[in-house]
Amino acid sequence: MTIYRFERVRRKKTMSIRCEECGARFSRSHTVEHTINPFNLNDQGVPKTRQEVAEAVGKELDAWAASIPAVCSSCAKAREGGA
Ligand SMILES: [Zn+2]
Repeated sequence: MTIYRFERVRRKKTMSIRCEECGARFSRSHTVEHTINPFNLNDQGVPKTRQEVAEAVGKELDAWAASIPAVCSSCAKAREGGA
């Protein structure tokens, strides 16, 4: 039996955000981890290189960053409450 150990590409992104409602500063962080492995294929059906995996991780972090609401959690709560 063969045990494969796949190399991981892990990146953490921290965003510093100013609430658009009250102006308070807050931050959000998120970690994305992909493994470099023979089943992680690119568009050509070829296993992704370390560089390609790193790019995929970066894209995922960018998508996450773009999805963060620009309001702090207390303002988000106030909105939900329909104040
Ligand atoms: Zn706020």
